[in-house]
Amino acid sequence: MQQTEAKNRRKIREQVKSLALFDIILQNIDNGISVYNPEGPIVYENGIAEVIRKKYFRKSVRIADENGMLIPQEELPASQALRDRRTHSKKVEVIRTSKQPPLWYRIRSVPVFDKKNRLVYVLDSWRDITDSVLEKRRRDHFIAIGSHELRTPLAGIKVLNQVMQKLYLKKKHEKVKTFFSKIDEKVNTLTAIIHDFIEVEKIRGGKLEFNPETFDFDKFVASTIQDLDMTYKSHKIQVSGETHISIIADKVRLQEVLINLIGNARKYSPQADTIDVRLISGEKTVTVAIQDYGYGMDKKYQSQIFQPFYRVRDSRIEKVNGLGLGLYISYKIVELHGGTMWVKSKLDQGSTFYISLPRVIKKTKKVYDF
Ligand code: ADP
Repeated sequence: MQQTEAKNRRKIREQVKSLALFDIILQNIDNGISVYNPEGPIVYENGIAEVIRKKYFRKSVRIADENGMLIPQEELPASQALRDRRTHSKKVEVIRTSKQPPLWYRIRSVPVFDKKNRLVYVLDSWRDITDSVLEKRRRDHFIAIGSHELRTPLAGIKVLNQVMQKLYLKKKHEKVKTFFSKIDEKVNTLTAIIHDFIEVEKIRGGKLEFNPETFDFDKFVASTIQDLDMTYKSHKIQVSGETHISIIADKVRLQEVLINLIGNARKYSPQADTIDVRLISGEKTVTVAIQDYGYGMDKKYQSQIFQPFYRVRDSRIEKVNGLGLGLYISYKIVELHGGTMWVKSKLDQGSTFYISLPRVIKKTKKVYDF
């Protein structure tokens, strides 16, 4: 008798332990997990599910399907599974107030049966897929923009070529010559777009090469700017500050970052005529700041512009050609160097982009794994 009681107690202890373990696991996974009994009430929910229920199951919040059609509560997968004892899955958009961005979830509700095939529970899980939905949207937008951006210089080259042919047939050889640089410019645009596509694919595949060398930081910045200053007629690039240090970095890639930031400073400040570049020496880092006096941007965009394919919603910006890849590529290159990049900007007052690199790079990898 005593032995059976001890056995039972042990069994209960083990069950409690395994339930506690289950709870720890469920509280720490990324999804919202709820368990309903066949009558409907929730018998278990983890922390995320509780937040979802309290925040989204209220009148001010609407839940829509992939086509934007509102879904009433009784048509959500858990209600459906409780009704027809089958698994249901739905991708939903949670529409909150106009100030809060929408969120997306993949909901899956699975019925659980006992040995007699009676419905005992419905397990309901909500997985946040907002990041992947937003990325897909940006990618779709990018494909549309990208093909447009590729077609425009190609169409230009075709027209220029036709005009050149006509001039050539009319033996106006001197005029033909003037077209070479125009074609060259368009080919450069195409090359730059294709280069960005390839860089993004490399980043995504974790295959961005890194070829470090030691060089003088101040000289490197000065010579990059000298080249740019000669090509940019619209803006004067002013350099100030000195760091007097050598860094270990991939010169070609770092130059790509500088050219991109200074190129943006120029593109997005057409009414200004100056770009300021400052070199700042810190205890452990060297920093270069690139300041323009152009469109600037609202604070809410400042963390998003480093994401792939992101462009600020501003009609002036949208008029300027661009794919929204340069900052993403630059950010990844700086990250590859163990550095950081950030922006300070005010709408209509201009932007300052900062790149900060460690003075000594401890780890130098040939290929960077993201
Ligand atoms: P692109 O210039 O091709 O759009 P980027 O990745 O270089 O792509 O920049 C992403 C977005 O960040 C730009 O579309 C623009 O909205 C914003 N941005 C970047 N640089 C500046 C700047 N100097 N001033 C204002 N906005 C900027």
